[in-house]
Amino acid sequence: MVEKRNPIPVAEAVKKVLDHAFPLGTETVELEESYGRILAEPIVASSDVPPFNRSPYDGYAIRSMDSSGASGDNRIGFTVIDHIGAGEVSAKKLGAGEAIRIMTGAQLPEGADAVVMFEQTVESTGSITIRKPFEALENVSLQGEDLRQGEMVIDSGSLINPGTIALLATFGYPQVSVAKQPIVGILSTGTELLEVGDALVPGKIRNSNGPMIVAQLRRMGFRCKMYGMSIDRLDESYEVVKKAAEETDCLITTGGVSVGDFDFLPAIYERLGAEVLFNKVAMRPGSVTTVAVANGRYLFGLSGNPSACFTGFELFVRPALLNMMGARKLYLPHTTAVLGEDFTKANPFTRFIRATYDGETATPAGFNKSNAVSSIARGNALIVLPGGTRGFQAGDAVDVLLLGMEEGSGKWKL
Ligand code: AMP
Ligand code: MG
Repeated sequence: MVEKRNPIPVAEAVKKVLDHAFPLGTETVELEESYGRILAEPIVASSDVPPFNRSPYDGYAIRSMDSSGASGDNRIGFTVIDHIGAGEVSAKKLGAGEAIRIMTGAQLPEGADAVVMFEQTVESTGSITIRKPFEALENVSLQGEDLRQGEMVIDSGSLINPGTIALLATFGYPQVSVAKQPIVGILSTGTELLEVGDALVPGKIRNSNGPMIVAQLRRMGFRCKMYGMSIDRLDESYEVVKKAAEETDCLITTGGVSVGDFDFLPAIYERLGAEVLFNKVAMRPGSVTTVAVANGRYLFGLSGNPSACFTGFELFVRPALLNMMGARKLYLPHTTAVLGEDFTKANPFTRFIRATYDGETATPAGFNKSNAVSSIARGNALIVLPGGTRGFQAGDAVDVLLLGMEEGSGKWKL
């Protein structure tokens, strides 16, 4: 008898998965290696930025008071007493009617409180004249105007992007404390599967899910352990899954979670004593997506159908892995878009449609059944159509999840 499964809403399924995350701890990495990692400590400004008053232009540092009354008819002259570039500090202190030639980034000399740009001067040997008065601090980049020492700048749990790296460098972190990354394993199940390099033979297909998931993980900055392919025989599959589950924090299997005669993952979870969080989600594609936990480790049983497999990874695996690292933004970024063409197929379940999104319009990316490969390749987004609704027409406003973005969203918006 076919077992009766009870579909749960996507949001509830995601929450169940996240509730079972266990933290992975932290490690220290070189700053240059930290791109894409999750910060394990907050960044607090260790100094003012900039750390001293400096010139934002190439020009002349002056005392603003000496420029008062300057005009086209009454040019005021200054004697140039020194010349400094960025990184140099003048030993001289400005007196009345004196200027120091200064380049962008150089510390303002003692006594100076304004900078006159080259183009605001008439230069002659050893002196300049100007034709307008300057206010105190005019054309000065002020100490601490960007950040104040002691200010909290970036929260722990943030993704390290190139700007974060610039900040860490600014504050003198040659190493940085980051969340450890989970060890993720991939096993593709199915007697029909061939290696990528194999020639097609009757009844068989090449394993596309395995390499696809490697790339989905790579896109998140993770490496993974490959467990290859296993044929649909309970005992053999059980041994591979058991070993892989012991060696990883998170094992992703593809295929074998449905109710077919050769779908052995449910029996394997049972033998492992794993807690199955759910085995049916009210979504298309991927309603058979199953997530279990054994010994505090995740077992993601994704559907073998490529589009379902892809979607299951993005909806469940991705936030789970980020959550294990204490990341703040777990979800795919969400936006709304104009539907580019009619989508009339009604469905009781929430539908995720691979689509191309151009910043305004989201259009289904071709053949969109759960077994589709082509639309995964063509799409850069998922249109989300709520279940239980009529069909949708071109021009309707729809929810869209964006794929391949560097950083996710902190909110589940659906
Ligand atoms: P299953 O989830 O095992 O019932 O498989 C569903 C469909 O996905 C079947 O048509 C399988 O042949 C196909 N499939 C399973 N695994 C893969 C894979 N690794 N790559 C491509 N297609 C697969
Ligand atoms: Mg199968």
